Order: sequence, then structure tokens, then C-alpha cells
Amino acid sequence: MTRPRAIICLTGSELTRGETRDANGSFLATELTMLGVHIEELRLLPDDGERLEEAFRELTARAEIVVISGGLGPTADDLTIASLARALERDVTIDETARETMRRKALERVPSENEIPGNFYKQAEVVEGARVLQNPAGLAPASLVETGRGLVVALPGVPHELRAIFHEHLAGEITRRFGLTPPRILRAKLMGQPESWAEARIQRLGIDTEKIEYGISARPGELLLKFISHAEKEHVLLDEIRRALEAEFGDDLFFPPEGLKEPAGEPLDISLMRRVHELLVSSRASIATAESCTGGLIAKRLTDQAGSSRYFLGSVVAYQNDIKTSMLAVEPRVLEREGAVSRPVCKAMARAVKKNFSATYGISVTGIVGLVYLGIAGPGEDAIYVEKKVFVGKRDLVRAQAATRALDLLRRNLEAEASENS
Ligand code: ATP
Ligand code: MG
Repeated sequence: MTRPRAIICLTGSELTRGETRDANGSFLATELTMLGVHIEELRLLPDDGERLEEAFRELTARAEIVVISGGLGPTADDLTIASLARALERDVTIDETARETMRRKALERVPSENEIPGNFYKQAEVVEGARVLQNPAGLAPASLVETGRGLVVALPGVPHELRAIFHEHLAGEITRRFGLTPPRILRAKLMGQPESWAEARIQRLGIDTEKIEYGISARPGELLLKFISHAEKEHVLLDEIRRALEAEFGDDLFFPPEGLKEPAGEPLDISLMRRVHELLVSSRASIATAESCTGGLIAKRLTDQAGSSRYFLGSVVAYQNDIKTSMLAVEPRVLEREGAVSRPVCKAMARAVKKNFSATYGISVTGIVGLVYLGIAGPGEDAIYVEKKVFVGKRDLVRAQAATRALDLLRRNLEAEASENS
């Protein structure tokens, strides 16, 4: 079966004016993708009745699923139900269940019926003939309309209400209506590789893109590879892809957990730091950092993780030469002879911070205008690795890439250590 197409329509002039950052589009796109729906478009529309009606006509003719967010409230700028009803050539009616719930809730706040403003019950309006999805988190219910070719649904814009209705009613309705099966989504992080170079190597793996949707996106110092199989019988192809990637890229690559969401529903954390966190916890290793040009950024990233006190011991941000000498025992004549940004100084910093903090690993960074030395002292007596890197970009970008590379060196060491011990 081909996957139904969905268009997500986010309404509200506060969105089109740029005052509010949209929180519903990415939620709906992720959830619908996870159900097995193809997202065709996300559209932002202002609170303008004619514009909304025109868009709803166009979109319901184009896609099997149209999900509308916002504009179900009591105020004059809440135009979604009226506009959708016109687009579908239906009337607007009051949903009595929602109306009664609203009346009850209002009477908890005001002494009598007379004090409830007339427009209050506007929130109980639904499109005639719609299946009404009650709102477990607020007042306005959602209208779900079967159009013959598919479904259109108008959800409240308040993010937690929209989420509640989606999970309680809509996900199940859509799955049943279209007989959906969830996709399998495999993602891989490829560290420190240029995009075009990596792409060429991936092309050579001969992935069947008729069956597997493939994508690549770049972030500083890392690439994210995505492989999605939509048909259940093709899901096993992702196991082959996983093995082929491992053979091709070795430890330049790691696999975050599959899927797009954490068990509690928030977006899946696929960061390098999450992986490092898991490896540090399971190996019971500890870590200390000696940072110059990154100014503590590596320590910050390490301590961004809840529970990092189990492995992070501390850091020395050693900017001045005499601090490198007094705090990290870098000999003044080495600093003088080699310069602060040099292999011997980087090596001495990693060793000293490991020793001074009694850590399993010591990480060091020293650099200037894009030229960076990164060091890691490991568990063995003389285990030390130092590399020279040139990062391009502005100050912040160089620092971000240096921190990412340092943490990735740690990841590689921890993974090697883990596979030796298993
Ligand atoms: P209400 O019944 O509260 O009026 P509604 O369905 O009419 O809900 P809106 O009037 O569009 O929704 O928005 C209500 C609140 O939710 C506003 O604070 C608005 O900024 C916020 N909101 C609406 N849409 C979004 C969105 N896409 N992303 C983030 N916030 C949103
Ligand atoms: Mg409103």
C-alpha cells in the first residue's frame, strides 16, 4: 500500500509575524512519520478567514490527511472552524458534550450562568458531521471530518492540548483509517568526515533507494545518516545496511538508538554526548579536562548530562602559560621552546590533568586561530594520543568542532576499551 500523504497546516498570525516559534509542526511531523504517514508539506497561515478557507479547499483536495493546528478558541481571531466548514461546504454546530463540560468548568469560577460571556461557548463549535475528539487537557474539542478521499482534522493550537488529543484519539484514528504500519528508522552518526566524501563512499554501498529512503545532513564535525524502510517486509534490509556501514566506516561511526522518540515522547537524544555518557557510565571510567582554547566547553558538554557527577571529576581552564605551569606541570622551557600551541604541551596537559585528578582519562586541548592540538591520556601508564587539527570557521565554530572532536576521541577510546573487555 502506498503511504497516505499529510499536509500540516499551522494557523495563527503570531506565527506568521514571527512572534511565536511554532511548537506543533515538528511534533506533528515526527508523530505522523512514526505512524507511517508521508509528510508532504508544512504550511503557516495567518488568522484570515478567506485565506484559511482557500487553503483548506486546496489542501484537502491534494492530500489524504490534513492536520490543522490553532484557531479554535473563543476570540474573534479564532476562525478555523468557520473557515473549514465553508471549505467543506458544511455548517457549524455546537458539540453538546463539550458545551456541557465548558458550562460545568465555568460554574466552578463564576457564581451563575448569566456571568458566562456569550462568546465563551464558541469553543464548543465543530464542523457539522465531524467526529468530535474531546479535549482531555483543555476546552476546545477537535473536529475530525471524513472527506471521502481522506481525513481533515482541526486541533487546538495550545501545544499540550494538541499533543493530548493527538495521543488520546488521533493517532489511533489515523492508523485504523489508513491501515498503517510503522516505519523502521535507522540513523548513524559519522564523525569528522567531509560530507561529499562520505556521500561518495555511501553511494558505493549500493543501497536500494527504491526500498530504503536515504538522507544525509551535516552539523559541525559530524554527519547524520538516515535510512528509513516503510514496508514491514523491507525492515530487515536495515540490518544489512548497518553491517555494511560498520565495515566501511569502522569507529568513525556510531549508531544512536533507533526511532525518533524517547520512551517518554520527547525527541530522541542522538547526540555524541549521550553516547559518551552511556560509555562512561557502563565502563565506570572517570574523566578530567585541561582546556585552553575551548575555555571549558568540553567540561560544559560533559556536565550537560544529568548524572555526569558519576564520571566528571573537574577541569582546568588554563589560558595563561604560568597557569599551564603551576596547575598542569608543563615545564616553562617546553612552553618557551615549543610554544603553548604544540604537541608536547598538549601531551603534558593531558597527562597532568589525568594524574592530578586521579582520572581514568585526561583530555587536553590547546589551539589558536583554527590550529588545534587535542590530546587524550588513557587508562594505561603511557597511553597517550595527541593529534593536530585545522578547523575552519569563526571562533565559536572552531571551538565547537574542537570540543566535538575531543569528545569523539574519548568515545573511540571508550568503545575500544569496551570491546576489549567483552
Ligand atoms: P485557545 O482555545 O486557547 O484560543 P486555539 O486553538 O484557538 O486555542 P490559538 O488561538 O491558535 O489556539 O493559540 C492558543 C495559544 O497557543 C496561543 O498562546 C498561541 O500562541 C499558542 N499556539 C498556537 N499555535 C501554536 C503553535 N503552532 N506553536 C506554538 N504555540 C502555538
Ligand atoms: Mg485562540
